[in-house]
Amino acid sequence: MRAFTFEAPATLTDALSLLETHAERAQPIAGGSDLIGLLKEDVVHYERLVSLAGIAALRDCRLNQEGLYLGALVTLAELEHDTRLQGPYRILAEAARGVATPEIRNQGTLGGNLCQRPRCFHYRSALIPCLKKGGAACPAIESPHQHYLAVMGGDGCFCVHASDLAPVLIAMGANVLLEGLSGQRSMLLESFFAGPGQDAQRENVLEPGEVITAVTVPALSEDWRGAFLKARERTAGDFPLVSVAAGFSLVNGVVQQPRVVLGGVAPVPWRSLAAETVLEGQEPSEEVSVRAADAAFSAAQPLAHNDYKVDIGRALVARAIRSVHSV
Ligand SMILES: Cc1cc2nc3c(=O)[nH]c(=O)nc-3n(C[C@H](O)[C@H](O)[C@H](O)COP(=O)(O)OP(=O)(O)OC[C@H]3O[C@@H](n4cnc5c(N)ncnc54)[C@H](O)[C@@H]3O)c2cc1C
Repeated sequence: MRAFTFEAPATLTDALSLLETHAERAQPIAGGSDLIGLLKEDVVHYERLVSLAGIAALRDCRLNQEGLYLGALVTLAELEHDTRLQGPYRILAEAARGVATPEIRNQGTLGGNLCQRPRCFHYRSALIPCLKKGGAACPAIESPHQHYLAVMGGDGCFCVHASDLAPVLIAMGANVLLEGLSGQRSMLLESFFAGPGQDAQRENVLEPGEVITAVTVPALSEDWRGAFLKARERTAGDFPLVSVAAGFSLVNGVVQQPRVVLGGVAPVPWRSLAAETVLEGQEPSEEVSVRAADAAFSAAQPLAHNDYKVDIGRALVARAIRSVHSV
């Protein structure tokens, strides 16, 4: 592991100032559960880590009539055990409960979960050049290790976004709040993520020196319900091969405000407008669920060794839609 300087500011202003001053050579760190592994493996190298952990303002977590406000430092364990996350918000606690292991959920934060780097075997090896590390080509296309690779949306690089919270929060219509020295901005969480077509070395639109300060979820109607399902190799502590967050309200027996968002299948959490179009205004049924699931994967272009993810994904989407209002 290469040497770095560790800064522990107590305020956001000081943290942003340190990040701006040291620009490309500095990186924020929260729980460290992802970043430390990458530093140890020499996949990334930063001269300065700026810890956000001591900034009390980033730990705020409140639910009121305006909806949900989650500071970036809220841990996955806190989400998992938050008894206020009921009704339409319950899906978030369920997704947090399925992340990794209790140790990682105690340490890992919401901001870190959304900004975690891909689990692609090739990216995670310092010995293998790849587009994400500034190399000329993606070696994954020729590789048998394609579990954690995309079946859609790949654009030269086929990494997938592994966050379990992102599909759920996008299904809930979440916004993300960003802050840098030049000011604050907010955007829909689904617009925060960026695929390799924009820049193969990044997975989101954070500017250098900018951090996530919070995620907000607008007040959801009382009858909106979501379901989150995840297929993984091992039940304990594993990343998603495919995950799906599906949700909708039932008004007079028909589906309204449907959301279908996939994880583990594309370089960004993948909102399927095609599946949502199938669901909108329909009475839920086995036939509608299957049609929506087919639509969700109609754009799939799997690689040579991961086409099985399309079959798993279709089954998962249909099951999630069926379970939305039976939970
Ligand atoms: C064995 C293992 C299994 C896992 N399984 C799953 C799983 O099943 N599902 C899942 O969703 N995740 C999984 N994870 C990922 C885990 O959720 C993340 O490691 C964790 O949430 C990261 O949070 P952190 O605070 O430790 O981030 P850190 O490691 O501190 O940071 C991760 C990245 O985010 C950046 N960052 C952190 N906070 C901010 C911020 N506020 N603003 C801007 N950038 C920021 C850092 O610079 C860094 O690049 C797993 C991880 C491990 C090690």
